[in-house]
Amino acid sequence: MNTCKLHLFTWIGSGKQEEHSTLRPICPTHPEAQLKINVGVDKRLVVTCPEQGEHLVTMCSQVEFEAEKQQARELLEKLVG
Ligand SMILES: [Zn+2]
Repeated sequence: MNTCKLHLFTWIGSGKQEEHSTLRPICPTHPEAQLKINVGVDKRLVVTCPEQGEHLVTMCSQVEFEAEKQQARELLEKLVG
């Protein structure tokens, strides 16, 4: 698995096209933790980490999330070659 740090999140994924479903954001402090993504009342995504009593990683819009996921996908693909 490779990681890349972008504006909103640090992303982890294999970079292989057939494994894109595994691409996900991670907590910079707890890279092993599985983050929770909830949709807030204002439709913003609230991304939290279950470690250390559950703390906020980032809040962003769904559009921002998808855009950054796409960016991470392209970067990780380049890493794999
Ligand atoms: Zn954390």
